[in-house]
Formats: sequence, structure tokens, C-alpha cells
Amino acid sequence: MVEMQIAARGINNFRILQAMRKIPRHLFVPEPYRKAAYEDRPLPIGEGQTISQPYIVAFMTELLDPQPEDHILEIGAGSGYQAAIIGLLSSRVTTVERLPNIAELARSNLKKAGIANVEVVVGDGTLGWPDHAPYHGIIVTAAAPDIPSPLIDQLADGGRMVAPLGGRGLQELVKIVKRGAYLERTYHGGVMFVPLIGRYGWREEML
Ligand code: SAH
Repeated sequence: MVEMQIAARGINNFRILQAMRKIPRHLFVPEPYRKAAYEDRPLPIGEGQTISQPYIVAFMTELLDPQPEDHILEIGAGSGYQAAIIGLLSSRVTTVERLPNIAELARSNLKKAGIANVEVVVGDGTLGWPDHAPYHGIIVTAAAPDIPSPLIDQLADGGRMVAPLGGRGLQELVKIVKRGAYLERTYHGGVMFVPLIGRYGWREEML
């Protein structure tokens, strides 16, 4: 998976490739799909949600650029796989999940994988998680119409944020670097994510 889907497509950050080699993706995939755990695609995890495609996990991690001392905030824990990868690359991860059963799934997957520095919390991640702010990096793993403003407030100066922004069907990966009052934005291609549902995301009744 790492050689053919990730390194071959130009991700060459050694720490990220090592982290992807260390975390067994099949531990994060439910039984009926386990045989497909190392294939080049997202897979269902229940309640209409998905574990992201391995390449997208690697690419978003590269954009986020987590450092060993960093505390990272993830919005959308899902299976816990993306958080596990970031957990190996930073000191601490807080990941917010809207659906309590999915949060429980993420906790149990992370435990099986032996990851102890990721905390899974239940809530509306469009509000961020103010308790531990500011974060050195924020990664949003569900699709939003625009960046939820609380996340900008909770990003440290010099911090990075990565999010899929756009419409319901297709989004663009956007990276933001906070420089004082100024936000530097770069664009990194088309992706498809499940919707970010909440106060500063999509409204559930409109889906
Ligand atoms: N990062 C995950 C994939 C996430 S799928 C992985 O590695 O497996 C997107 C997740 O975002 C879903 O679990 C969905 O329930 C969650 N989500 C959607 N809206 C949310 C919100 N407002 N706050 C927190 N989680 C949300």
C-alpha cells in the first residue's frame, strides 16, 4: 500500500511513510471489508461514514505537517485511522466526532492499535474544542462549505489547517497557514468527503 499508492504518487516525507507502515489499516476497517483494507479507496465504517482512502490520509498529513511537539485537533474521528497516523507524528491529538457510536468505534480501534496519545471526544466539531486551544495544527476530515470560524480562532499563530472545502459532491483540499490576522491559503486539488454537519457546517435538515 505504502509503496504503490503513496510513495509512487510523490509523498516522500520519510516520517509519514514510516507512520503509514507502522499502523495496520485493517484494525480500523470493519469485518466485512477487512480484506479490502489495503486497497486504494475509502471504505464504509457504519452510519453512512467512511475511512478515507490511504493516499488522501497521507496527502492531508503531509499538508498538515505535524511536528513532534505539536498538539493537533482533528474534526471527524471516523475510524480513528487518520488520528492514529498523526498520533505517531505529534505529541498529542484531540479528535472530535459528532456520532457517539462512531466515537466509540474510534476509541476501540485506537486501543487495538496501541495508540495512547489520541483523545476522542463527542461534539459538534464545527465549534472546535476550545478546552485545549490553541492548536499547532487542525485537520478537518469532513466536507464543509467554508472554514468554520471557531477553528480559525483556535489555531495558533503559525499553525496549519487542512480542510476539504466546497459543495456536497466535490471539494477542494485547502491549506491555511495563520500569520497574525492574515490567512495564507493554498489549494491542493479535488477530493470527495462525507459532509461536516453542524452549526458552522451543513445543516442536517438540509441534507
Ligand atoms: N478521519 C476519519 C474519516 C472521517 S469520515 C478516518 O480516518 O477514518 C468523517 C467523520 O466526520 C464521520 O465520522 C462523521 O460522523 C464526522 N462528522 C461530521 N460532522 C461532524 C461534526 N460537526 N463534528 C465532528 N464530527 C463530524
